[in-house]
Amino acid sequence: MKKLISAALALLLAVGCTAPAANNVPEQPEEGIDYLVLVNKLHPLPEDWEAKVETVKVTNQLGNEVEVEKTAYEAYQQLKEDLEKDNVFIDLDSVRRTVAEQQEIVDEFTKEYGAEYTAKVVAKPGYSEHHTGLALDVYLIIDGQPVYENDEMLQHPDLWEKIHSRMPDYGFILRYLPGKEHITGYAYEPWHLRYVGVDTAREITEKGITLEAYLGAVNETDVSIDYGTSELYTQEVREEMAILIKCRFAALEGCELHSLRYVGDESASAEKLAWLNSLKDYDSEYGKAACFLMDFHTPKENSGSFDPDHEYTDYQWWLGCDADGDWDIVDYSNQE
Ligand SMILES: [Zn+2]
Repeated sequence: MKKLISAALALLLAVGCTAPAANNVPEQPEEGIDYLVLVNKLHPLPEDWEAKVETVKVTNQLGNEVEVEKTAYEAYQQLKEDLEKDNVFIDLDSVRRTVAEQQEIVDEFTKEYGAEYTAKVVAKPGYSEHHTGLALDVYLIIDGQPVYENDEMLQHPDLWEKIHSRMPDYGFILRYLPGKEHITGYAYEPWHLRYVGVDTAREITEKGITLEAYLGAVNETDVSIDYGTSELYTQEVREEMAILIKCRFAALEGCELHSLRYVGDESASAEKLAWLNSLKDYDSEYGKAACFLMDFHTPKENSGSFDPDHEYTDYQWWLGCDADGDWDIVDYSNQE
């Protein structure tokens, strides 16, 4: 699916010109946009953003044109040059996407795959940090060859470490930190850089916190995760399941995650599998099931369908695995 999304994006990004190189990274953000803007699954892009943001369009080494916020681009160029001195080579992959472009992707996917599947794989228009122009996905160039598939890029932790260690000095933070999925709503993405300005980037990186916590939008509390034991699923698969659950949890506004644990292989019964399959309304059947239990606390106000200011314990999160081997969250509820 990543490939399909990339193809759709490449089509949408095919307009622009090459910007001149700039040398100075301004110490202070320019007037106009707020460089600390928070855009995530709960916080949409501010309405006046697209009218105010100044961008440049550049062609990357793959021949694709990408659009970046002006100050973030100048900072990126300096970061890139600095890394090249150490023989680390990066390039811009996906940067800005307007709300209208995101809507086009959603419309295309809905036509092709239906609304339910689209909601699962494509970000809701207005709720992607890429709308800001301040979020940069980079790819690696190794021995002159581009490495841009996510799985392949994850095979180079040594290169990412070098890149991440230099980012704060140019005003960038690593936005989607490992272990913080329940706050950011995204799994670890070493390639997703976010421009916030030098002072803020240094402070956030030093504290090892998320932008959400820095801005006071959430409390970062300790979360205990128990992967238990399993004859059916490897540790790696159980970790993948926990990340899926945490990413979904991040969209439950104001809720605080305390613990998550794998129930055990007995949860994967034929009866439960039939129940999971009865819940979905698009083709392809789940062939495997799994369940995690969660303890979490709801907010004092606006707790949605949850009781306010309540500690839920042993809350069930059910996952199904489809024919392609992809795990989904099928249900989360208090049911027996
Ligand atoms: Zn990204």
